[in-house]
Amino acid sequence: MGKDELLKTLQRDWEKYWKLDVLLQNGFRRRRCAKCGKFFWSIEDQEICNDANCREYEFIGQPRTKQAYSYERAWEVIRNFFVRNGHIELDRFPVVCRWFPLYFTIAGIVDFYRMRDSELDFEFPAPSVTVLQPSLRFNDVANVGVTGRHWTCHSHVEQASLYDGKSGYWKERCIELDLKLLTKVFGIEMEEINFIEDVWLGAGAFGYSLEYHVAGLELGNAVFTEFKGTPQRYVTMDKKVIDMGAGLERFCWISQGTFTSYDAVFGKEVQRLLEIAGIEVDEALLERYARLSSRLNVEEMPSMETFWERLGKELNVSQRELRTKLGPIQAIYAILDHARALEFAIVDGGIPSNVGAGYNLRVILRRSLSLIEKYDLGFDFYEVLELVAKRFKRIHPELLSGLEKVKQIVRLEEERYKTSKERARRVVLARLSKGELSLEELLELYDSHGVTPETIDEIAHEIGREITIPQDFYARLAQRHERMEKEEEKIPEELAGYPPTEMLCYQDVREFEAIVLGNYGDFVILDRSAFYPEGGGQVSDTGSLKYGDAEVPVVRVIKMGNVILHEVRGNLPPKGAKVVGVVNWERRIKTTQHHTATHIVNYAARKILGDHVWQHGASKSPERAHLDLTHFASLTEEELKEIERLANEIVKRNLPVEISYMKRGEAERRFGFSIYQGGFPTTSELRIVSIGDLDHEACGGTHCKRTGEVGRIVLLDSTRIQDGVIRLEFVAGRACEELQSYYSSLTEALERELKTSREELVELVRRLIERREILEDRLRKTKEEIALLYARKLGFERVGKRRILVARVKGDPFILKQISLNLSGPDTIVVLLGVWKERNFLFVSAGAETGVSARDLMQQICKKIGGRGGGNREVASGSLDVAIDETKLKQVVLEVIK
Ligand SMILES: [Zn+2]
Ligand SMILES: [Zn+2]
Repeated sequence: MGKDELLKTLQRDWEKYWKLDVLLQNGFRRRRCAKCGKFFWSIEDQEICNDANCREYEFIGQPRTKQAYSYERAWEVIRNFFVRNGHIELDRFPVVCRWFPLYFTIAGIVDFYRMRDSELDFEFPAPSVTVLQPSLRFNDVANVGVTGRHWTCHSHVEQASLYDGKSGYWKERCIELDLKLLTKVFGIEMEEINFIEDVWLGAGAFGYSLEYHVAGLELGNAVFTEFKGTPQRYVTMDKKVIDMGAGLERFCWISQGTFTSYDAVFGKEVQRLLEIAGIEVDEALLERYARLSSRLNVEEMPSMETFWERLGKELNVSQRELRTKLGPIQAIYAILDHARALEFAIVDGGIPSNVGAGYNLRVILRRSLSLIEKYDLGFDFYEVLELVAKRFKRIHPELLSGLEKVKQIVRLEEERYKTSKERARRVVLARLSKGELSLEELLELYDSHGVTPETIDEIAHEIGREITIPQDFYARLAQRHERMEKEEEKIPEELAGYPPTEMLCYQDVREFEAIVLGNYGDFVILDRSAFYPEGGGQVSDTGSLKYGDAEVPVVRVIKMGNVILHEVRGNLPPKGAKVVGVVNWERRIKTTQHHTATHIVNYAARKILGDHVWQHGASKSPERAHLDLTHFASLTEEELKEIERLANEIVKRNLPVEISYMKRGEAERRFGFSIYQGGFPTTSELRIVSIGDLDHEACGGTHCKRTGEVGRIVLLDSTRIQDGVIRLEFVAGRACEELQSYYSSLTEALERELKTSREELVELVRRLIERREILEDRLRKTKEEIALLYARKLGFERVGKRRILVARVKGDPFILKQISLNLSGPDTIVVLLGVWKERNFLFVSAGAETGVSARDLMQQICKKIGGRGGGNREVASGSLDVAIDETKLKQVVLEVIK
C-alpha cells in the first residue's frame, strides 16, 4: 500500500484520526480543496487550501508574523516556548548518523530512532523533548537554490513526545501547543492557518499527520506515529510518538517576507557574494519569480530546458533573459546551502568520497565548484565556507572551530576534481559524438568519472550541442546511495526450535562440558559453549570436541540468532552425547591481543589524525590484524610512527580494560556516538569495552584485562584501499614476537649465506646490487661487440631490389637482435637462426622498402616448418619445433617472399 492509498483508507475513518477538540473549539472545520482535492481544516470558509501547489507565496513582501525573526531569534523563542511547556532541550545530534542504518540524520526524529533486532525502536531520553537538528537530505539537490524552499541542509525544529498514557502527550496537546506557537509566539493570525491531512510512512512505523500551511508555505508537520509495521501488517504501538518537525528557515522566511528562504537566513552573505560576482539584481523580476516559485519543482520537469521555457511563459520573459538573470543568483543560493551541508558533515566526521556517506558530500562539493565555474562568479569556495561558518558562529560555533579541517579536505577534493575533470572531458566528448546520453550513462559518468551534469552541460555547449539532463538526476544519484545496505540475517527454520546457547566465551574457559542438542549440516549445537563465534571482525575460536574415545576438530564457530554452531570435521557426535569442548587457547590469546590492540590503534589514530577518523572495518586473526579507517589522504611516514608510538605508550601504561553492560541511551550520553565504531547497535543493552578512560566502544569481542597484556604493537603497513578509506595492518603480542623471531632467523640465514655481520648486511646487499648492475652493463657491451664482429663476417645476397641474409649464429636472443640491428637497412631482409636454451630460436627483420612484413614472414616460416612466433612489421621473433640447417631455411625464406 502506497502513501495515497493509506491516506484514503484512513480518511474513511477521518473522525477517529483527525477530528480534534482543539481544532473544533477554535472554530476549525474540515473542508476539501477545490483545486487539489486534499482535505484540510480552516476557520475561514476557504475553497482552496493554503498548500504551495494551490497558491502563490503570498507572504513575499508581506510577512505574516508580528515581527521579523532572525535564524537565532526564531530558534530562541521556539525553544523557550517548548521548554516552558515541559520539554527538555537536547543538544543536536551528529548529522552523520551512527546509530541507525541511515547515512545522514534526515530529520530531528532520527535522533530517537534505534534498531532492536531488525525493528525500528523509539528511544527517548525524556518523555517530551525539543532539539534544533541540522538535517541532511540529498533527494532534492536540483531544487536547491531554485524553489526558494529546498535545502540539502536544513535546521529541523523537532518537537517530540513519547506517549504511554501517563507520561508524554498525544494529539490534542500537540496541536494545542503548535497553535499557541504559531499565534501567540509568532503572532500569525489563526484564520491564516490551514491544517492539511496527510500520512507518514517510515521505515518500520507509520502514522497520520497534520501539516500547517500559512499563505502558501508549509511551516510544520505534526506526525502522529501510532502503528508499527506496514499498512498491510501492523500493530498499534504501546508508546505512541508525537513527531512535529518544522524547518527553522521557513519561520525566518515567513517572518521576513524575503524572496527566498535563503535570503532570510543568508541575507548578508547573499549580498556579499552578489557584490563579488558583480551581479545586478532585477528586483522586480526576482519578486515575481519568487512569488510563483511556490509551484516550482524542478524534478517534475522533464528537463532544465522545459523548466526555463515554462517559467519564461509564466513571467512573460524570454528564456535567455531568465537564464542570464536568475541562473547565477540561484547558483549563489545553492552554493551557500551546499557549503553549510559540507561544514556540518565534515565537522561531524563525514568525508567526501565515492562510497557510502561520502558520496553525496562529493556530489554537492563538485556541484558547487562547477556552478562557480559555469557562472564565472569570481569568488572561490573557501570564501563561501568562511562566510557560512561565521554566519552561524553564535548558534553553531563548531562550524568555525572546524573550518580549517573543512578547508583542508575541500582543498584535496578540489585537486582530485581538477584531475578527474580533464579525463572526464575526453570521455564526455567521445561519448557525445556517438549520440544522446541516457540517464544511466549520465549516472555512470558521475559514478566512474565524477563528472556532474553541470559539467557535461558545459562541455556540450562548447561543441554547440544541447543535451537533455533529466531533472531527477540528483534524486536518482541519491537513491543509489541513500541507505546502507544491510544483509538481512536469515535464520534457517531448522534452528528455530533450539534454546539460546549459554555463552561462556567471555569467562576464560579453556575446557567445558556440554550436551549435544542436535546437528545442522556439519554443525553441532550444544547447550553451552566457550567457543567464541566469529563476529565484529574477530575470527572464531577453533579446537575440538571430545566424546567417549573420539575427538573431532572444531574448525569454525558461528552464531545464528542466539544459537552457536560448531563446524566439525569427521563424525558428528550424536544428539544427547556428553562432550568436552577444548578451545585452542594459543589462537584465542593471539586473537584477543589483536582485538584489544585494534581498539588501541583506533584510539591512537583518532588522536593523531583527528576526530573525523572513524572505523570503517576491521579484522582480527591470530596472525595479524587490520583496521580500516575513514581518512581523506594517505598516511605519511611520520603519522604512522606517531600512531605506533602512542599505541605502545598506552600498552606501557598498562591501563585496565573494563567491560560493562548498560542501556544504549545511557552509554550514548556518557560516551557519545563514537562507541559505535563497529556500526549501529541492534540491542537496547550494550557491552561497552573501555580502555582506561580513554576509549569506549560497544563491542562483543574478547579482550585482554589490561593493555599491558597486548604486548608490543608494530604497524606493518598502511595503504589507501578505497577512496576515503585507509588500511592499517599491524601485529601485536605473541604474533608480533613470532614475526620478529621469523625475521631474525631470516637475518641470521642471510648473515651465514653472505658471510657478514648483521650490522653490515644492508651495506653489503647494496654493494652487491651495485656490482650486479656494473656486470650487467659490461655483459651487454660485450654482447654488442660480439654482434658487431658477427655482422662483419656475414654477407648479403642480392635478390632483385632486396638484399637478403639467412644465417645461423651462436648467441642468445639479445645477440641475434643486436646483429640484426647492426645489419639491417631499408632494403634488407635478415633471418637469423640460433639455439638458445635448447630452443631453435629465430629472429627476423624486414626493412621498410622490402614490401615484406617481418611478422608475416615469421608466420609463414612457422607454418611451413612448424613453430610459433610473433612481432610487428619490422621485427619478429619465434621458435621452430625442429632443427633446420640454414640452406633449407633459406629456401623457405625465398619461397615465401617470392
Ligand atoms: Zn489545495
Ligand atoms: Zn571491538
